[in-house]
Parts: sequence; structure tokens; C-alpha cells
Amino acid sequence: MRIQLRYIGLIFSVLSSIFIVGCDTASPPPAYELNYTDGIMGTSFSIKATKLPVKVTAAELKLQLKTILDNLNSQLSTYEPESELSKFNQSSITTWQSVSSQLMIVVQEAQRISLLTKGAFDISVAPLVNLWGFGSESMSFTAPALESIQAIQQNIGYQHLHIDPTLLQIQKDIPELSLDLSSIAKGYAVDQVALALEAAGVQDYLVEVGGEIRVKGLNNQGSKWNIAIEKPTANQRILQKVLPISDIAVATSGDYRNFFEVDGIRYSHTINPLTGQTIKHNLVSVTVLNPTAMTADALATGFMVLGFEQALLLAEQEQIAALFILKTSTGFVEKPTSMWLNFIQEKL
Ligand code: FAD
Repeated sequence: MRIQLRYIGLIFSVLSSIFIVGCDTASPPPAYELNYTDGIMGTSFSIKATKLPVKVTAAELKLQLKTILDNLNSQLSTYEPESELSKFNQSSITTWQSVSSQLMIVVQEAQRISLLTKGAFDISVAPLVNLWGFGSESMSFTAPALESIQAIQQNIGYQHLHIDPTLLQIQKDIPELSLDLSSIAKGYAVDQVALALEAAGVQDYLVEVGGEIRVKGLNNQGSKWNIAIEKPTANQRILQKVLPISDIAVATSGDYRNFFEVDGIRYSHTINPLTGQTIKHNLVSVTVLNPTAMTADALATGFMVLGFEQALLLAEQEQIAALFILKTSTGFVEKPTSMWLNFIQEKL
């Protein structure tokens, strides 16, 4: 998610100074040998490597990683009219179309998560996202008429998208079908950067794109990476909890950053494709831990659409490590899955 998760090196040092005796005399940790922050995909990214192998320079790596991110943006963006995805969306051809291996991997995983969530997660939700004003087209800040939603729903449904991973081809069986990878492609970008770092011999890193994160090894203090989950409040940025993690990806989805309000009703950017409406329930944030950021990213959105009861059932059945935060009359309540508790216990 764009802003719910963030790396808290600075905040953690402040917190830890409260608890570690003699911390004020300790020397500062060594600087990261790669510390690269910039923008991509309408958001920011941050890449840190504790140490670089001999013969690998930060400047070379930066160039390589930026090229990866730029290429993915030009393939997977709905905000770039000339991107591979935009061209597929603009076309009304209902025969098979060749795609890049990158687009195939993301679409294939999206379709798997759609099946798993029985259509709660659905990248063909694009026209609804735009109708509600959250997509690449202009923001409207008004709830659309029911008739407009119903008309657009006829052009939605992951079952109208077919994929052939062997031949690298995809096909829409209705001309209007259009895809939005905003809930999965940032995670994929994180994974691609992580793999490039590993291929270069980097052992200890943090990669974050728009809040989707993947970490490996240790930070510059020789500890696990400390990742903050924010309290799901719209107008404040307060920590809900800190996760010390390593060798895992983490993604959060929530209803409290990207939304508009009309007459006291909040309309969030997560849309239930089955009703055409923005989600409305007491599940306000979901964090998922998974080996890949792509899957964590998509599952977090899928779970947000499903709501707490259904999402918990699915997460337990599939043994997914997830932390649900519910808004109750007495405040926020955390509901972890069994796998989340196992993971946190094992990794602490
Ligand atoms: P997440 O919680 O991860 O996903 C929510 C998003 O998924 C929604 O905003 C919607 O787009 C979509 N969605 C809603 N309901 C569903 C559903 N049921 N199933 C599946 N998906 C759903 N933004 C810009 O402003 N400018 C840009 O140039 C730009 N370029 C981008 C390029 C790429 C390749 C990508 C992936 C995104 C780009 N974005 C851009 C979008 C932006 O950075 C965020 O991805 C977007 O705002 C949602 O991110 P999130 O993490 O907050 O949402």
C-alpha cells in the first residue's frame, strides 16, 4: 500500500534509545552502502543495502535498479497511455494478444488470487475504479449513480480474461475489458528489484515501492529490519506496531488514506467488484506477510474486499500470515491469523 507501511530506521532509533541502557554513548551505525530513494509509479521508492559486494558500486546498482523500475512502469501502468497495459486496455480485439513475460507473471498471479477470493480481488475492476474517481482518469469526489455502476459492471469480471502462460498470450472475450494492476504491480516491482540485488550478490537489503516492502538479512545495526504498521487513522500518522522481520515481504491495504467523503460517508478506493460499491465494513487495515511482495500486495487488497470474517476463514484455510485491524466502538482491535502468530514468534 502506498503509505501505510514504512521503514522506521529513524523512529526505531528514537524508540530504542528509551529502552537500551547506555545507548547515548553508542556510536552511530555505519551508513548503508546503498541508500537510494526516488519516485516511480506515482509514488516513492526506497532501496537500502547494508553492504555491497566488492566490485559492485552503488552508482552502477542505482542505474540498474532504476532501469528495472522504469521498464516495469512502461509495461504495467494505466497512467502511461503508451504502456503495454494501456494498449491492451485501449484495444477492443477479442483474439489472443502477445504480452511480455512481466505482464504475464503479474496477470497470472492476479487471476490466481481472483479464483482464491472468488472474485473479491479482480484486476478487471479498472472501469469501476475510474467511475469512482480513483483511477488514472480524473478524481470526481462524488458517488456515481447506481445505473452507471450497473452499466459498467457488465464489462467487469476476471472470467472474461484468459491467459496462456506458455505462449505468453492473453485474451479478453469482451471488447470493453480493461485491467488495473495498482493492487499488485508495485509488489511485483519490489520483487524484481530484490531479485536483481540478490543476483548482484547483495545479502542484506530492504526494498520498498509505495509501501510494499521486501527485506532480507540484517539492517545497518546488525538487527532485523523494523517495519512500522500505522494506526488506521485518516488524519494522523501514528504507529500501530513495529515488526522486526527478515527474509520476507510485507504489504498493507486499508481504507483510511485514499478515500473521499460525502455527507459523512466515506468512499474508499477499494471496490467490491461483485457489488460495484466501495467497501463498507469494520475491517480497516490488513497486513500480509508472504515470501513475495506481489502476492502479499494482492492478498491484502483481496482480504480488504472480503471483510474480516470471510478473509479470516480464507487466510486460515490457506495458512496465510495476516493481521487484521478492526474498528470497534472501543477502538482498534488486532486479529492475527495462526500463521501470523507462528511467524512473529519464530522470527522474534
Ligand atoms: P492497494 O491497496 O494496493 O490497491 C488499491 C488499488 O487497487 C485501488 O486504488 C484500485 O486501483 C485497485 N482496486 C480497487 N479495488 C480492487 C479490487 N477489488 N481488486 C483489485 N484491485 C482493486 N498513480 C499516480 O497518481 N500517477 C502515476 O503515474 C501512477 N503510475 C502507476 C504505475 C504503476 C505501474 C502502478 C502499479 C501504479 C501507478 N499509480 C500511479 C498508482 C499508485 O501509485 C498506487 O498504486 C495506487 O494509488 C494504489 O496504491 P495503494 O497501495 O494505495 O493501493
